[in-house]
Amino acid sequence: MTATARLIRHDDVGVIELDNPPVNALALGLRVGLEASLEAALGDPSIVAIVLAGAGRMFCGGADLREFNTPAAAQPPFTGELRTRMDRSPKPIVAAIHGSALGGGLEMALACHYRVAAAGTQLGLPEVKRGLLPGGGGTQRLPRMVGVATALRMIVTGDTVDAAGAKAIGLVDEVATSDVRTAAIAFARAAAARGGHHPVASSREARIADADADAFFAAERTRVKAEARGLEAPLECLACVEAATRLPFDEGLAFERARFRVLVEGTQSKALRHLFFAERAAARIPGIAEDQAARPVRTVGVIGAGTMGGGIAMSLANAGLDVVQLETEQAALDRGRATMTRNWAGTVAKGKLSQDEMDRRLARVRGTLRYEDLADVDMVIEAVFEDMAVKRAVFGRLDAVCRPGAILASNTSRLDIDEIARSTSRPQDVVGLHYFSPAHVMRLLEVVRGTQTAPDVIATSMAFGRATAKLPVLVGNCDGFVGNRMLSAYVREAGFLLEEGASPAQVDGALQRFGLAMGPFRMGDLAGLDIGWAGRKRQAATRPKHLRYSRVADRICELGRFGQKTGAGWYRYEAGSRTPIPDPEVERIIAECAAEAGIARRTIADQEIVERTMYALANEGAKILAEGVALRASDIDLVYVNGYGFPAYRGGPMHFADTIGLAEVAERVVQFHAAHGDWWTPAPLLLERAAAGRGFNDKA
Ligand code: NAD
Repeated sequence: MTATARLIRHDDVGVIELDNPPVNALALGLRVGLEASLEAALGDPSIVAIVLAGAGRMFCGGADLREFNTPAAAQPPFTGELRTRMDRSPKPIVAAIHGSALGGGLEMALACHYRVAAAGTQLGLPEVKRGLLPGGGGTQRLPRMVGVATALRMIVTGDTVDAAGAKAIGLVDEVATSDVRTAAIAFARAAAARGGHHPVASSREARIADADADAFFAAERTRVKAEARGLEAPLECLACVEAATRLPFDEGLAFERARFRVLVEGTQSKALRHLFFAERAAARIPGIAEDQAARPVRTVGVIGAGTMGGGIAMSLANAGLDVVQLETEQAALDRGRATMTRNWAGTVAKGKLSQDEMDRRLARVRGTLRYEDLADVDMVIEAVFEDMAVKRAVFGRLDAVCRPGAILASNTSRLDIDEIARSTSRPQDVVGLHYFSPAHVMRLLEVVRGTQTAPDVIATSMAFGRATAKLPVLVGNCDGFVGNRMLSAYVREAGFLLEEGASPAQVDGALQRFGLAMGPFRMGDLAGLDIGWAGRKRQAATRPKHLRYSRVADRICELGRFGQKTGAGWYRYEAGSRTPIPDPEVERIIAECAAEAGIARRTIADQEIVERTMYALANEGAKILAEGVALRASDIDLVYVNGYGFPAYRGGPMHFADTIGLAEVAERVVQFHAAHGDWWTPAPLLLERAAAGRGFNDKA
């Protein structure tokens, strides 16, 4: 498929058609075709007006992300030159916009004199979502067209507007109710007949003159900084819009160009673009054809109406599926329903859901105490207590009542999917569907493949995940799968750092400044410390004695401190408050455990906290990758960013290690191994890649 643009004559109107499926990205070939078509149309005296349109399903989705940081991006003609040429055109140019006009696509439309959009078209500048800013004049032209405040919100959020909204703010001149290209041709011909001056965005000044600009931008800068949470791009977007109000157009363009260059070469935008491609890659499963038939899923049974069962039922009902929810007693069903009702009512109160729609969703969830009511469901998702005996009993019952072909899934956090499957006569239909809390909010879904899980069950689970607005990532069956297995390594290192001299607040602070939504100790207090404690007690007898073990967490639990729910954990909490307060009692326990273990406490730098925890993630990730528990490094990155509050602008733990350079990471891991023992045994894959000068995410 070659990118191009062609000139098609409609009597006295020349239609330039952008053609680069699937989104008409502004790749080199398209730019060359556009330049030639523009020259031909401008030079042909029989053409009185020009229409710019897209072939296929949309007008234009913007720049070609794959071309960024490659030589093709540096080859003329550049879109900037084309837009300047359009600005200067004496013949009216009309954009005929259908489907979407996004990023560079909308910037091309902004350089036309007029815009006609098909009803329902989406228009926007989403560059900020990839850590960039609209670098094709968008920050300079949009404020001139729709006003500073409206343009600023569109650019710093990256949100789109539909055609009707675009008409209301002055972004499009006409919304076409029938064929948009025909409407645009008629519009262009009328404009040419009218003659006179055709409006050019770059020379409109009326909407950017504002007496209170200083106060406006000062207030917006504070707001954007708070919303951005460590992201550079939104603040750069703001600086460019401000430049539009203070500098002549050409200087504003140069300013925008310079700020764009800084972002495109920077680590944040590379990380966000990595995640964008990672999501596409995650959908591809080697050995399973893309057209593998999936089993239809309309009705889903959910076992358990606790924290996870409730959230899962909500997410299914939100996606329009019917849910049969089974519990052991009516009181548990009632409690679950009350929680769902409260959660949805909160969304209604915020104006994000209508009461009618809430009622419809609630009506889709039917509670039951009888397994027979699951006889006809297409899939079951089990979310009962994390106890193998209980899970085995539940799957035995499901095997007895569910119809042949029904998919039997477990939401277990770390138990063996194969053992669960063995409690049924149909292990090929058993799969793990690991949701994250709160399940109606978090996007990640680990799809856990058992030894015998059938290919069409995997294909169905992945398709089902996407259809219910989740991000499904296929992982292998091992203790904790990908996410929780890595979390264990991370939490363990955080605990060791306490004994060596850090405080919970120092570790949390360092990692939150690094960009994590919440440090490990605050997260522990929120999730509850008792579950981990129970697990450690179970494993106590089999724990390898040569591996270092910190007693701090156990001592804290022995005092009945299970986190926020008991008013104390790693921190203490005032009644009714979620604000963590450092607690001298915890300091005392830490010092005591360190003394017992013979550890001399020292001052620990934030840098060491980040390296110890982040390289623990990368080293464990490398083992996961080598074992085939994850299909690709980018899948691990997706799991960690979407399930564990890892900052997207760092691209995930594997991408972060690549950014540091695996040679340096490997060197530190070897040092940590020497200093802290065998938890740090370097992953062979890490050493191999480091020696070969390759990153985890590099293509072979
Ligand atoms: P929970 O205690 O809130 O809920 C469990 C529910 O299951 C209870 O309402 C209980 O009455 C019900 N139940 C127990 N035995 C049952 C049976 N035999 N039949 C029907 N219902 C039964 O627990 P949770 O936090 O929702 O966890 C459920 C599962 O999800 C566990 O396997 C857990 O590891 C996993 N998980 C939890 C989280 C989390 O953050 N809480 C995240 C991912 C996965």
